[in-house]
Amino acid sequence: MIRWGLIGASTIAHEWMIDAIRASGGEIVSVMSSSVERGAKYASDHGIPHAFTTVDSLLSEQPIDAVYISTTNELHKEQVLASAKAGKHILCEKPLATSLADAKIMVDACKAANVVFATNHHLRNAATHTAMRDAIAAGKIGKPLSARVFHAVYLPPHLQGWRLDRPDAGGGVILDITVHDTDTLRYVLGDDPVEVIASTQQSGLAKADLADAVMGVMRFRSGLIAMFHDGFTTKYSDTGFEVHGTEGSLIGRNVMTQKPIGTVVLRNANGESELKLDHKNLYETGIAKFHAAIAGNGKPAASGDDGLWSLSASLAVAKSAKTGAMQTIDPGL
Ligand code: NDP
Repeated sequence: MIRWGLIGASTIAHEWMIDAIRASGGEIVSVMSSSVERGAKYASDHGIPHAFTTVDSLLSEQPIDAVYISTTNELHKEQVLASAKAGKHILCEKPLATSLADAKIMVDACKAANVVFATNHHLRNAATHTAMRDAIAAGKIGKPLSARVFHAVYLPPHLQGWRLDRPDAGGGVILDITVHDTDTLRYVLGDDPVEVIASTQQSGLAKADLADAVMGVMRFRSGLIAMFHDGFTTKYSDTGFEVHGTEGSLIGRNVMTQKPIGTVVLRNANGESELKLDHKNLYETGIAKFHAAIAGNGKPAASGDDGLWSLSASLAVAKSAKTGAMQTIDPGL
């Protein structure tokens, strides 16, 4: 039984992670909120025995094995460093931090403390993406040449807060959604991006200098090119993920989502066939792998290094949009 402390009384923990931890046999011992009242209400609403207002008290006052960090992104670094120092295993939300230098310090500190460190890139855990990855690895589409990611959605009203007006917290569509695209592309393709060119839009929802939509093209080591479209402002689109190869295409529909849904069609010279999918809760799958990694069985779904890749690519996207120039992607690994 892994005992968890939640750092952050967040929406994502409320909507997905508390249930996922419990469904995977974890026990939630405590929650940390910066507000006494919010923390107490959150704990009581979710049946969590203890609420704390500082990370130090959460780490020291009740025995726990692991922490799940889902505060706003500028807070992740100090919370990860304190948790690693206390010897806790850490599941941290994406983006790991708001700068690559900070994220590198976090990953290095966890390696030095010998704790399991994972990035919560849930899309790796989708049956759809794993089926695409397996089909590509089995040569079903020949050599992959290009990919298209459609991940433009409408930001639900209850999430229209810091994402739209706080650059310091890592707001904006790129650090929110493009990070996931990059990780999913790396996972499905088994390849790493090397450069990117992108253009952003601010169409009324986001403020300050934050983007509420972005399009771009990444080039991968193999030479594959991938286009992506991410948005907070797209009310009526669906999502998709396609990979096109010399011998076939994989067409994923409704696959860039938190829900265990979606379809994948393989299209080649023989026609079309739908891949068999065993849909399971993405977050539960991730927590099960994290628990196993703590027990010494395998690795978490997405590691700290994976988080460095997705962050470095996203920061390169943002810089490309600002400068108008192609940017190199280099997580420094
Ligand atoms: P929230 O805005 O819900 O929570 C972030 C922080 O905001 C909380 O830690 C909390 O502070 C404070 N907060 C929350 N609700 C209120 C409120 N009603 N009034 C005042 N303060 C409030 O963020 P999300 O859950 O959307 O995102 C948190 C993290 O998770 C981010 O890093 C994000 O990128 C990531 N995320 C990841 C997803 C995934 O699928 N992997 C999906 C969604 C988000 P305090 O704890 O101090 O009370």
